[in-house]
Amino acid sequence: MGASVCRVCPINSNTHSPGAAVCSCRPGYYRAPTDTPDMACTRPPSAPRNIVPQVNDTMVVLEWSEPVERGGRSDLSYAVECVRCGASASVCVPCAESVLYRPTQTGLMGRRVVIHGLQPHTRYTFTIIAINGVTAVSSTHTASASINITTSSYVLVPVSGIRKTKASETSLSLSWSVPEHTLHTITEFQLRYCLQGEDEAWQYVSSKQNSVVLSNLSRSSQYKVQVRARTSAGYGQFSSLTTVRTLPDDAESHTRMIVTGVLVAMGLLILIAVVTVAVFCFRKHSRLRDSESDKNGQYLMTPGMKVYIDPFTYEDPNEAVREFAKEIDVSFVKIEEVIGAGEFGEVCRGRLRVPGKKENYVAIKTLKGGYTDKQRRDFLSEASIMGQFHHPNIIHLEGVITTSCPSMIITEYMENGALDSFLRMNEAQFTPLQCVGMLRGIASGMKYLSEMGFVHRDLAARNILVNSNLVCKVSDFGLSRFLTESSSDPTYTSSLGGKIPIRWTAPEAIAFRKFTSASDVWSYGIVMWEVMSFGERPYWDMSNQDVINAIEQDYRLPRPSDCPAPLHQLMLDCWQRERASRPRFCDLVNSLDKLIRNPTSLKHTTHTQDGLLLDRRPSLSQCVSVSEWLKGIKMERYEENFIQAGFTTLELISQISTEDLLRIGVTLAGHQKKILSSIQTMRVQSKNSLRY
Ligand code: AMP
Repeated sequence: MGASVCRVCPINSNTHSPGAAVCSCRPGYYRAPTDTPDMACTRPPSAPRNIVPQVNDTMVVLEWSEPVERGGRSDLSYAVECVRCGASASVCVPCAESVLYRPTQTGLMGRRVVIHGLQPHTRYTFTIIAINGVTAVSSTHTASASINITTSSYVLVPVSGIRKTKASETSLSLSWSVPEHTLHTITEFQLRYCLQGEDEAWQYVSSKQNSVVLSNLSRSSQYKVQVRARTSAGYGQFSSLTTVRTLPDDAESHTRMIVTGVLVAMGLLILIAVVTVAVFCFRKHSRLRDSESDKNGQYLMTPGMKVYIDPFTYEDPNEAVREFAKEIDVSFVKIEEVIGAGEFGEVCRGRLRVPGKKENYVAIKTLKGGYTDKQRRDFLSEASIMGQFHHPNIIHLEGVITTSCPSMIITEYMENGALDSFLRMNEAQFTPLQCVGMLRGIASGMKYLSEMGFVHRDLAARNILVNSNLVCKVSDFGLSRFLTESSSDPTYTSSLGGKIPIRWTAPEAIAFRKFTSASDVWSYGIVMWEVMSFGERPYWDMSNQDVINAIEQDYRLPRPSDCPAPLHQLMLDCWQRERASRPRFCDLVNSLDKLIRNPTSLKHTTHTQDGLLLDRRPSLSQCVSVSEWLKGIKMERYEENFIQAGFTTLELISQISTEDLLRIGVTLAGHQKKILSSIQTMRVQSKNSLRY
């Protein structure tokens, strides 16, 4: 072959003319346009085999086996085709744009696809096509296998008759009627509520029963409430709006509380013992909950807890946007300058002026032109997620613009931008105490997310934003970068069924996609390292594979220079191989609080043997917040007073005196007694736990 040296024709090719420059392929074999003439000729793959479907209401999971014949190539991928058929199956039409494929519809590298957004009680035919580099140039039929599936029927279960069964100044007990005849069993109810006049800032709670107790409410306030049922076929419609009111803070109720105070204090001893047991049980079972939670993206927490709802569980994801994000009139927004590049388009700074409200700087994420319906849904899903969170360390969603082009997501503006670049620009400018302050904020935001049952999966300094007061907020709730195969960002490495930021991800999440709050804790450890090394790249220029191997061999990132040893110890705790042994976010917040209260500990630059920060002895004060404690003794009305006076942890509160209580505004003798008696019990417990 060729003019100079003759060589044997590559495999599956030949020539009849001696000295030919190119050997042509044997019949049935081809070269891809990118193959060079000295490469073997190959052929398309055979059909995928054994499609195994799993139908879950209106969602279908398909898995299949490799084709017997890969055609001599390594670039095998798959595509999915979907058609919707009438009852007789003789007339089928292509599936609607609203059908979603995860990780993607074409260019699938793995042998699994999840298909969302199908219609209930409908026949579909799914075809899996095996493709390689010569499929397009071959004249043979594409290799495919098909399967017919009928989705479950979707029955709306209407809920009505919300009743107030009990009310106090800060709580409401509500119940509602259960529909008598339903085709599907009700798995849970979801109630949402918001203060009347407070622009639909809905809070969500789930309950297995047809009743719920809402606590921590404002006194003498009117709330809007709606309930819906969830069955195996999905969520039904929300009931019509009901309004309910909390009681006013009257003198009579105070007197009543003083009289019952002594009795309650006695009961408290028992209550706190129960709480202690519950705390231990909760610690033990929280990992289990994590592992349950990521099975279906819907987090069923204890009744009465706020839960995160995956917008992709909605039949129509646009409905999720309407539910969780406020539509903003485009005329209220003024774009000023481009400040960054997002996954879907530019990120700009601008101003939001809602009539009657103060003008604010905002960040505006735009969806660039030429997008598909699916891209628009993925773009807006970030708003549906963000809109469910209300926490000072989580980026706040102002609203969305979906009724005009381009679509926009509007959030609070963070003057100092992304944490990684901010740190790099200010290398060595912050004291360890300032760094710990930033880390404390991030841990607090993550604690909130984990309590909501939300697993971030991409916690990294690049996804933390910093405002002008150095407050750090967790951001980047978009899922697209895990899904978009075409994304070229090298931080996200393709793996079976998605993309993973290897350097930030826990080994069990890389190995078998076990994403939980415990894997978020691993990533948090990496963020700590990024902060303490002022934006250094984790594992420097090591390759991703080297990082995976090093972690497997128990290598861990070393202490950054000038990083206090207790902080590095915390990082090492986050990077425990056993995910159950890692601290939880509430442990991390407590540990960082301890450091902030005792800044001399930040001077240690050598490790101590006994794990300076994470006291693993069980202790009531370890993971119970001031707010939870006050709620436990029904004194939540004083939360603001404690926090404002600086009593932000139970450890600080355990030192409190009657004078302190008077000073911070706990003036009623009954309330003082109740609080002091609870503190005394805590002290005894704490002493006992030290004897373990
Ligand atoms: P994202 O698409 O969220 O990763 O945003 C891309 C970039 O835009 C970020 O790295 C930031 O530099 C900037 N950015 C995003 N949101 C904000 C915000 N709320 N305030 C200030 N800058 C932001």
